[in-house]
Amino acid sequence: MVADTMVKTRWVYAFGGGGADGDASMKNLLGGKGANLAEMSALGLPVPPGFTITTEACVHYYANGRSYPDDLQAQVAKGLTRVEELTGKTFGDPANPLLVSVRSGARASMPGMMDTVLNLGLNDQTVEGLAQLSGDRRFAFDSYRRFIQMFSNVVLGLDHHMFEEILDDHKDRLDIQVDTGLSADDWEAVVADYKAAVARESGQPFPQDANDQLWGAVGAVFASWMNDRAKFYRRMHDIPESWGTAVNIQSMVFGNMGDSSATGVAFTRNPSTGENRLYGEFLINAQGEDVVAGIRTPQALTKIAREEMGDRQPSMEEALPEVFVQFKAVVEKLEKHYRDMQDIEFTVEQGRLYMLQTRNGKRTAKAALKVAVDLASEGLITKEEAVMRVEPASLDQLLHPTIDPASPREVIAVGLPASPGAATGKVVFTAEEAERLGGGIGEAVILVREETSPEDIRGMDAARGVVTARGGMTSHAAVVARGMGRPCVSGAGEIHIDGKAGEFHARGKTIRAGDIVTIDGSTGEVLQGQVKMIEPELSGDFATLMGWADTVRRLKVRANAETALDAKTARQFGAEGIGLCRTEHMFFDPDRIAAVREMILADDEAGRRAALAKILPMQRKDFVDLFGIMEGLPVTIRLLDPPLHEFLPHTEEDVVAVAAATGLDAAKLMRRAQELHEVNPMLGHRGCRLGVSYPEIYEMQVRAIIEAACDIVAQGKPAPIPEIMHPLVAKGEEMKFLKELTDRTAKAVIAEKGQPIDYKVGTMVELPRAALRAGDLAENAEFFSFGTNDLTQTTFGISRDDSGRFLNAYIDKGIFEKDPFVSLDQEGVGDLIRIAAERGRAARPDVKLGICGEHGGDPASIQFCEAIGLDYVSCSAYRVPIARLAAAQAAIGEREKDR
Ligand code: PEP
Ligand code: MG
Repeated sequence: MVADTMVKTRWVYAFGGGGADGDASMKNLLGGKGANLAEMSALGLPVPPGFTITTEACVHYYANGRSYPDDLQAQVAKGLTRVEELTGKTFGDPANPLLVSVRSGARASMPGMMDTVLNLGLNDQTVEGLAQLSGDRRFAFDSYRRFIQMFSNVVLGLDHHMFEEILDDHKDRLDIQVDTGLSADDWEAVVADYKAAVARESGQPFPQDANDQLWGAVGAVFASWMNDRAKFYRRMHDIPESWGTAVNIQSMVFGNMGDSSATGVAFTRNPSTGENRLYGEFLINAQGEDVVAGIRTPQALTKIAREEMGDRQPSMEEALPEVFVQFKAVVEKLEKHYRDMQDIEFTVEQGRLYMLQTRNGKRTAKAALKVAVDLASEGLITKEEAVMRVEPASLDQLLHPTIDPASPREVIAVGLPASPGAATGKVVFTAEEAERLGGGIGEAVILVREETSPEDIRGMDAARGVVTARGGMTSHAAVVARGMGRPCVSGAGEIHIDGKAGEFHARGKTIRAGDIVTIDGSTGEVLQGQVKMIEPELSGDFATLMGWADTVRRLKVRANAETALDAKTARQFGAEGIGLCRTEHMFFDPDRIAAVREMILADDEAGRRAALAKILPMQRKDFVDLFGIMEGLPVTIRLLDPPLHEFLPHTEEDVVAVAAATGLDAAKLMRRAQELHEVNPMLGHRGCRLGVSYPEIYEMQVRAIIEAACDIVAQGKPAPIPEIMHPLVAKGEEMKFLKELTDRTAKAVIAEKGQPIDYKVGTMVELPRAALRAGDLAENAEFFSFGTNDLTQTTFGISRDDSGRFLNAYIDKGIFEKDPFVSLDQEGVGDLIRIAAERGRAARPDVKLGICGEHGGDPASIQFCEAIGLDYVSCSAYRVPIARLAAAQAAIGEREKDR
């Protein structure tokens, strides 16, 4: 018979008593807590004996209409018998009762999301046994009242406030302030009232049978896997529902058995600074939940910490010196064993130490960096492991001034975290006002706009931070702010701007121009008033870890930069070149916008050329500056990309002002602006289509680039490597035309100057057709740069500027896991990139491949770029360190895959 030959599933794994059935590698089956309890037991550490019901039992429970596997009961009974043997106590025995804790424990830690029951096994008889055994009646009834409250709340679903009110009534009546002031008789009276309340509210007496209590608690822990908190936490941290939770049933040890008993939590290093010093707190004569509940003020573990805090209560080192020595040895052993900073829970029962939990401790970015570097320096981990230990995105916290986590936040509105960092300043509503107040070493201002456009660039530059009410993560404001390293919150739909009144409204508040706000571009929050900041630290551990990352990474990391300041910042952060210089931003400078408008308004080519001749020297200077800063590193310059109407004034008022300032004819200006108006400009007359219609524009730009390169060489500086890039190319024939235009112009300049310049001509790949026909493009393009902002926009047919308004609904409904403008859609857009890389390489084996869309700074997208073998990623200057670290991790990850 099949059933006879079938191996029985094991649902229960024992631990404690100097050994264990499992170990730390079995997290999937035993959950993090269960696996680590087993590991600690096997290490010979003092762990109260117990057993773990596997996550598979939980999965079975949900797969079978919330029922347990057939043989679970028998296996649990066996586990319990083993615990009884090891402790010499019996579950439910009035004379010598075994009490247990029942705790959840999933694969990934989900702190506080699921349920726990302590002191289980107490009833009207066993409480007397516990009183006898401990010689402390007060302790026994204190434990019983805790149990009734916890069990009733977790298993019976009764509100815990009811119990708190009963306790408060007793305290009032007795005129006692703290719980420790209650006597044994007082607690007994509280217990009687608790039981009466349970019977009244649930219609049943409080369960007295220990086994009923146990299965009630196991069921409640399994059920808590599906509570709202747990579901929300899982969604936030990408934890699959299918994992289920394990249940740990463990004999109780008591930290509330008098003054030689205690309970506490410890980190082997400081989790906010990473400092290598035992950190944590404990309470004498208390149970675990008292430490977190904040009813009593916990005490420091070490004498030095107590002295630094100026605390008068003794530290553990002073109050329990012998146990402390033992404890210190145990935690050091644990850290060495796990090779990482540990987060530990412990209890001391009448002078005996017990370990209840250990896990890798959660930490801030600063601490992660320091702990990783220190552990490698101490020889506990390798440098590569240290590189893997720091979350690249978390470096954001270190590269910008950030809000002091300890300071209170008064949130006025929340939008998208478009550009990290925090900034405080006076609210202004126009770019001109930002420039007027904030330019140079002016005042700190925050520019608040409906949305921004290229005209606002100088105002954005003058502001400390930018807020927009509309726009997504790749909207103009977001892209530009990230490039400048300005904190930005975009798409804060709660903000309603009343430009005329000079104020905005959000959440019932009115904020006027000149009022102070603080923005947190890492969370998307807009806060009222000034909030305390912390400055970034780029040397020390940061520099050490980045150095290690650089030795293992394969991908090069470049920056998207157009101003001298961006380029300098990029180099300071370790960029190995410029991967995208968007030349249109240079056209908005007030010194040249007049000539740009003259060029656009010109009736014919001659008129355009005359205007372009005025722009040429200014454009050349831009490139001389960039090449000078980049000192021979590659610089990819993209020729003009946006539709021309963006450069023209739009309102009648603007037109009149421009006409007056430039001497151009107002009516003509207005007519031309109307002519240039497009229904769908993003798919219109932009990108290389401008170069095809008006070759003289691109000729001027190519000339400026090559002349600048010649000037730099003439100055005796390292020869630049200009990479001239054409945007929005779709067809091989387009690329051929552009390549010929570029070469013709470059050759002419080289001949004029008598100075050979090594330059390259390439294309952006930002249209699906370009990706599919990459072989055609590669015939004339020496490099491809994937413009994944436009490629995502054109692949999905979703506007990058408007997606913020509706993508959230898609993310909430799970249709999109992440915003595809933030993290590359590897299936769809990624497929196009893979195809383009293959076809491009087939046509030209040494074609250089990079990415310069916003995804170039996103760790998950960088991993994709490594996997398909791109040559470099390019991102805004402030994300260069993140990209360096992510590229190193991706390289290590790929190597592991090959093993
Ligand atoms: C892109 O489309 O990905 C790109 C880098 O160009 P832009 O953002 O300037 O359109
Ligand atoms: Mg683009």
